[in-house]
Amino acid sequence: MAVRNITILGSTGSVGVSTLDVVARHPDRYQVIALTANKSIGKMLEQCRIFRPLYAVMLDPDSAENLRTEVNKNEIETEVLCGVKSLEKVASLPEVDVVMAAIVGAAGIRPTFSAALAGKYVLLANKETLVMAGHIFMNVVKENHATLLPIDSEHNAVFQCWNGWKGHQSTDKTNGKMTELSHICLTASGGPFLTMPIGEFAAITPAAAVKHPNWEMGQKISVDSATMMNKGLEVIEAHWLFDLKPSQIDVLIHPQQAVHGLVYFRDGSIIAQMGGADMRTPISYAMAWPDRLDWGPEPLDLATIDNLTFAQVDPDRFPCFMLARQALEAGGVAPAVLNAANEVAVGAFLNGKIGFLDIASIVESCLSKALVGDLTTIEAVCAIDQTAREHARQIVASRYVFKND
Ligand code: NAD
Ligand code: MG
Repeated sequence: MAVRNITILGSTGSVGVSTLDVVARHPDRYQVIALTANKSIGKMLEQCRIFRPLYAVMLDPDSAENLRTEVNKNEIETEVLCGVKSLEKVASLPEVDVVMAAIVGAAGIRPTFSAALAGKYVLLANKETLVMAGHIFMNVVKENHATLLPIDSEHNAVFQCWNGWKGHQSTDKTNGKMTELSHICLTASGGPFLTMPIGEFAAITPAAAVKHPNWEMGQKISVDSATMMNKGLEVIEAHWLFDLKPSQIDVLIHPQQAVHGLVYFRDGSIIAQMGGADMRTPISYAMAWPDRLDWGPEPLDLATIDNLTFAQVDPDRFPCFMLARQALEAGGVAPAVLNAANEVAVGAFLNGKIGFLDIASIVESCLSKALVGDLTTIEAVCAIDQTAREHARQIVASRYVFKND
């Protein structure tokens, strides 16, 4: 395999660190061109020391200044840049082949678009890009001959099962593979509160919500897993990625997290992908696609798993999941509003300003505001995102004041 030049957007996060771990195990195959982060200077300096990228981008200018000082002091020949424009630049450099899009939240949308516009291999962890702007993004991928490879473990599983799916060509209805498929299923762990009595939900703390039973992930996605908003966002993600109707995307709760995704074919066959709960499996698959890499995993020991169970999602326990499904059905601006309101609500919950149950009610309130927008450009999407955030912040502020009375 030829050496692939890679930019990792969000290299200091959970997905970013796992990506670099795979790179470190295959230094003959990957050359790190750029790493990016928001503010984590310590982690970024360490990554620059080990991987010697040409560029390191910090979103935050003060962090960039401090990193520059440290990089010079340590005689590391990495150019330090800052700001969104620089994120876009390192995602689209001519020498870059592969871009891992692993920034969390709406902040990932512009650099991810930049990578697609430049026709790169886009390894998509930032599901929020598809939730906010799926239609535009899939067009940009197609028009610029980018190759879109899913990192989300469930979507990566479906991608592995649905042999013949070709990413950006999936909208081609004449492709025989489309008609062979009946539907797909994404599994969900159910998160840390799957069996907790619903009456106790109001007292859930941020520390309890970020403690995921199977996966080690960033804080935002961990809370999204606890509310199951994450699975709702993933249904929307799957809709765009695989060009499927909402009714063709099932979700089953599977706490053992051995099966990640299933594809149901019209001949009655079901093909499922199994594996351990480690993001390096989907990450390495997308990094090496169409080959596979050995990153040193222990094989999943099925004999040690007593049971594999699958159950429907309880709508009363997981209202956020239902809101995401409704937003997908509603279409238009609804998914972007859902995403923005959720980001604000999750941030406020993590900062102790609102309770766990407020997350769903804030998202629901924002969705009911009947916002409109044409959503044909990324600017229009970002404008709706900002308006929805403002609504969500106002609700948070009113509840916070009320709580402190
Ligand atoms: P994380 O919080 O661990 O890391 C986020 C990264 O983005 C960090 O490098 C951070 O510095 C950077 N970042 C944060 N805010 C930024 C901003 N405003 N501008 C630029 N950079 C910023 O997140 P994560 O868990 O690695 O998740 C990253 C993405 O991957 C999310 O979209 C998530 O939904 C998706 N994902 C994660 C996992 C997982 O196992 N962690 C699994 C599937 C999908
Ligand atoms: Mg997932």
